[in-house]
Formats: sequence, C-alpha cells, structure tokens
Amino acid sequence: EQQAGVPVQEIVLAEPRGFCAGVDRAIEIVERALAKFGRPIYVRHEIVHNTFVVNELKAKGAIFIEDLAEVPAGATLVFSAHGVPKAVEEEAAARGLRVFDATCPLVTKVHVEVAKLAKEGFEFIMIGHKGHPEVEGTMGQLDRGIHLVEDVADVARVQPAQTERLAVVTQTTLSVDDAAEILAAIKARFPNVREPKQQDICYATQNRQDAVKLLSREVDVVIVVGSPTSSNSNRLREVAQKLGTEAYMVDAADELRPEWIAGRTRVGLTAGASAPDVLVQEVVARLKALGAVSVRSLAGAEETVKFPLPKGLRLDADAAA
Ligand code: SF4
Repeated sequence: EQQAGVPVQEIVLAEPRGFCAGVDRAIEIVERALAKFGRPIYVRHEIVHNTFVVNELKAKGAIFIEDLAEVPAGATLVFSAHGVPKAVEEEAAARGLRVFDATCPLVTKVHVEVAKLAKEGFEFIMIGHKGHPEVEGTMGQLDRGIHLVEDVADVARVQPAQTERLAVVTQTTLSVDDAAEILAAIKARFPNVREPKQQDICYATQNRQDAVKLLSREVDVVIVVGSPTSSNSNRLREVAQKLGTEAYMVDAADELRPEWIAGRTRVGLTAGASAPDVLVQEVVARLKALGAVSVRSLAGAEETVKFPLPKGLRLDADAAA
C-alpha cells in the first residue's frame, strides 16, 4: 500500500537496450569453442566489456589474456569483439594457434574499408578513444597513416603527409552527436575528406542512444547498466546527462545507491550493448525492493540484426539451414 503523500515510483525501460548482435555472437563463439574443444579456451582481451559476462565465461573455462605470449602452443584462441591489429593476427598464425575471430562484423567492415582505401593511397583520420582496443585494432590494420582524433581540439593538430587523399573512419561506439561535431571540424579543415559511405557508428550504438534520448525526457533519473570499460555504456550515461537528466552507471544491482532514486517518480533504465538482460532484471528487482511499484517499456526501434558464426563452430543444423 502506497502511503498518502509518497509519490508512486515507476520504472521506465528503454527499448532497445542491452545485447547487440555482435556481442551475442562473440559470447556464443567462446561458448561453442568451449563445448567443442573443451577447456581452456584462451580469449584475447575481455570478449566484450562486461564484468559479469567475463566472470561467467571464466567459470566455464575461458582464460582471458592480453599478450599472445601467455597462450601455450596448440591452444585455441578467440579474438574479442573489438577486433585486433594485423600484427596480432599474424602472430597467432605464425604460432599455429587455432583461432576463432569474434571481431564484430561491423568492426571488420571498417578494417576492410581501411585496407581498401589504403591501397588507393589514402591516409586516415580516425575519430575514437585513445587506448580503446577497437581503436588499437583499427589503427593496427596499417603500419602508418592513421591519425587519431578524440575531440575537436585534436583536429587542428593533425599533420597528414598530404590532403588529396584523406578519409575518415570512426570507432563504432561513439556518441553520435560528438562524432558529428568532430566530423564537421574535420570537413572544415579538410574540405575534400572522404566520409564513410555509411557511417561507422553501428546500428546498436545509434539505436541505444536514440532510445536513451527518448527516455531522458520522460524520467527523473537514468540508470545505465554497464561496466566502466564499456564505451557505448559510458556514452549512454553522457547522452542522458547532456539532456540535463541525472544519470548513473552500475556494473551490478548492488552498486545502485538508494539516494539516487529516493523521492523520484520515474526511474529510467537502460543497458549498454555488452550488458546481459539478467543484470537489468536484477536492477529492476532492487528498484522494486526500494519501493518502485510498476514497470513499463518505451517503444523504440526494432532490431533484427543477426550475424553468422564462423565456420567450424556452426552446428550441423545451422550448416543445413
Ligand atoms: Fe558490433 Fe555495434 Fe555491438 Fe560493437 S556495439 S559489437 S560494433 S553491433
């Protein structure tokens, strides 16, 4: 029973939220490799940037490493969804490791574009976050000729060897609005720059940001489920904050602080592309325990994207289909 004078609190879920097709596929690759070849399966870098996912796979027999030197001869190795530099691919091949590549096909698409344009003599400006594994992977497709810019100020500092053949590539999980601003600065300085045919920011990033914008207008506070290392989850929190809505990120339900939601009528909830639904359900349960009485979803873009698994990990049933 709600006491008189105490506002009824509702939970509003963003749609879509959580797992994207690339994350689904990456996790399934590790699980199927474990089922087919047995433990351990080595994974270069966190398969996706989520603490819960990584811990679950560790318990099933995955070993996460950063350096291929840690992988014993003859072992099976999975590359994370973020992709790897060419040198890592070559090192794994030279060592004769059995490799399954869980790089998201939308990241691979960027790699392929870079390789193709590089052959035509292009130099690149990459919009991305320094040190993120996807940026290292994309920049590592070439020995030289990719200049990283993180913000508008960086654009003024870029020193390309020539300006006739310049192309822009981006990280897939950027803020759509920030990337547009940086791209405008690049075009102002280099009017002939070639833009990606279809922008490199992926459908999942775009849809989750659109959904959190809708959500932010309807609620008093936004909770994002995601790990601190997750680029797209951090962007969701920022997008809400830029619209003037208070926003917090939690890696798990127990990180949610009661004071964030106390006295709030509507609590918005979303999840980054690497955050599993079970964590969202746990946050819903905690919000209810703290007093929320109802849950509803906001309608948003429908997602039907699904990526095939690598050959060698498909089930017979898939192969026949
Ligand atoms: Fe692929 Fe986008 Fe998901 Fe990254 S966020 S794994 S690029 S679909």
